[in-house]
Amino acid sequence: MNILTFDIEEWFVWEELCRFSPQRRKEYDDMLARLLDLLEERGIKATFFCVGMMGKNFPDVVRKIREKGHEIGCHSNVHTWLNKMTPEECLEDTRQALDNLQQCIGEKVQSYRAPAFSVGEDSRWVFDILSECGITRDSSVFPAGRDFGGFPSFGEDAPSLIETNNGVIREFPISVTSFFGRKTAFSGGGYFRFFPYGFVSRRMKKRDYNICYFHMSDFVKEKKFTKEEYETYFKEKASSLSLFTRSVKMNFGKERSWTKFSRLLEDIRFVTLEEADKLIQW
Ligand SMILES: [Zn+2]
Repeated sequence: MNILTFDIEEWFVWEELCRFSPQRRKEYDDMLARLLDLLEERGIKATFFCVGMMGKNFPDVVRKIREKGHEIGCHSNVHTWLNKMTPEECLEDTRQALDNLQQCIGEKVQSYRAPAFSVGEDSRWVFDILSECGITRDSSVFPAGRDFGGFPSFGEDAPSLIETNNGVIREFPISVTSFFGRKTAFSGGGYFRFFPYGFVSRRMKKRDYNICYFHMSDFVKEKKFTKEEYETYFKEKASSLSLFTRSVKMNFGKERSWTKFSRLLEDIRFVTLEEADKLIQW
């Protein structure tokens, strides 16, 4: 089973950080249109985790995705890492996010992904909150080490049930593989841009469960963060090294990422999180 997911936040994030110029907005709108066309052409449906405020400030973007038959999931309200919030703040953020998205599309939203996979051993309480808010499927667990977030102690990268105070959450962790003795993701974001296409597709074909995740920014060239933007976005001090590292990570492999991605859609059959949930004998 292969699940295709996208995290949709850039419209909102760039509007918050600096003015989202019409020209920049066009780049993202065009990339989304290109993506939706490609998915339609290949007959593939995906799950799009949208930031709640996208439903409020950019409802046309969220509706366009839903109208094409894709699943809308929730990606927090304002894209603040969950481990930088208190449980009370997280509850409020999740409620607002779901309200914004559900008002926008007029349907219940049941799938969730935390910004930057920011759920770990110290923030297991997040699952109680998600369940309390009506979330039944989650894909926030990144079962390997990571700059931000990461949950190396989670265990196997296979769909699993998480018991919470308010019911069960069906978890779809990010796929990881072993690379020179280290556990690493390979089928999404910067990892997908970094590894050669053959490496990713061969590993995917050998496994029973894969989940791929992308951002529009995996295909659109990003400008560099200014010191101020970095500090607003990451809520921590910026250094020359952190600014440089971020810029490299944000743009590495983008010349080839769209071609690799289109090829992946030719080689591999994908389903949404919602469809995967129905296919699994829990
Ligand atoms: Zn995100």
